[in-house]
Amino acid sequence: MTFTDIPTRFYELTGHHPAGVWAAPGRINLIGEHTDYNGGYVLPFAIEQSALLAARPRSDGRWRFSSLDLDSTVESGDLAPGETGWQAYLAGVVWALREAGHDVGGADFVLSSNVPIGAGLSSSAAIECATLTALCDLHDLDIDPMSRARLAQRAENAYVGAPTGLMDQAASTLCTADHALFLDCHTLAVQQVPLRIADAGLTILVIDTRTPHSHVDGEYAARRASCEQACRILGIDLLRQVTDLDAALTQLPPLEARRVRHVVTENQRVLDTVEALTSSDFATVGALMTASHASMRDDYEITVPTVDLAFETLLAAGALGARMTGGGFGGCVLGLIAADRADAAAAAVAEAFAAAGYGTPVSFTSHPAAGAHRIA
Ligand code: ADP
Ligand code: MG
Repeated sequence: MTFTDIPTRFYELTGHHPAGVWAAPGRINLIGEHTDYNGGYVLPFAIEQSALLAARPRSDGRWRFSSLDLDSTVESGDLAPGETGWQAYLAGVVWALREAGHDVGGADFVLSSNVPIGAGLSSSAAIECATLTALCDLHDLDIDPMSRARLAQRAENAYVGAPTGLMDQAASTLCTADHALFLDCHTLAVQQVPLRIADAGLTILVIDTRTPHSHVDGEYAARRASCEQACRILGIDLLRQVTDLDAALTQLPPLEARRVRHVVTENQRVLDTVEALTSSDFATVGALMTASHASMRDDYEITVPTVDLAFETLLAAGALGARMTGGGFGGCVLGLIAADRADAAAAAVAEAFAAAGYGTPVSFTSHPAAGAHRIA
């Protein structure tokens, strides 16, 4: 399946030509992990892998969703939160728009995405944001980009039932090519930050460790609970309010102290990364990434042996910096590395995994791409 086949497949499935085709990307978080629910900062960029969605309004008010990737077509009559199945991500967007008072009728949707599912690259936000962008265009809805991202998040939270933050949908909607998106998760202020890695002869090598995320929900809940407990002890609402880290650490039990040290230093690393990127100081960016990984490994304790091995191997292979990205306990590791060293570094990681008896990782290089837009 190539993306150019989408209009053809739309015609085969519906008997009509689509009114348009829209694209929305997956994302990678460059730095800023477990900061979102502490009112902190994140710095994602959109990746080239994206969801494509062909759409056409229907006059009978019904909704029909097809995923070419899953070879599945589902009708959704009365949209109701709690709907299960992959189409809930799309139906949820329709529901969220209606709930916000926007008059959207029925439509046929045909979807194909090359964002891998469940690899931590946010395939879910890609299909939500493609749907939202399509509906906004088809119905001439005047909704600003951040409000669109929040509607897509509402679809995932309230309709699908997944309690995720705003980063994925904000990145998929608001990112621009050659930039990362600085997002203040508390004020929702955003800033486009230049990420001109190709100009510097660099690339971002992504190693998908293919480690199954195990116990991730329970561990995530435990980290959040530790942060909330620390806030209670410190008498604040959010860890972003910690101004004197050393003073805060003396008031906390050892476990909470480690967790708080990660969150507070990670927030500062995001701010420092934004500053370093503004002057294209990639050596500093790399050092901040590496420090972020160490903090996730030692203080937040969310890395696993496969992830740590990929991290160490990337650094040994000449990366300026490396870090796990995503919630932890598996997933992807990033290396900021000279473009002409990326293949050798990926091979070194594969070799190290084989020697350690781990499964074969998947690797690809990535450049900051554009957020959701119409392509046809
Ligand atoms: P991710 O980290 O990739 O976002 P999620 O569990 O949040 O993982 O979302 C993955 C879910 O999104 C899939 O289980 C499926 O329901 C839906 N999805 C993603 N991509 C597609 C696709 N191409 N076709 C149909 N459903 C998809
Ligand atoms: Mg997701």
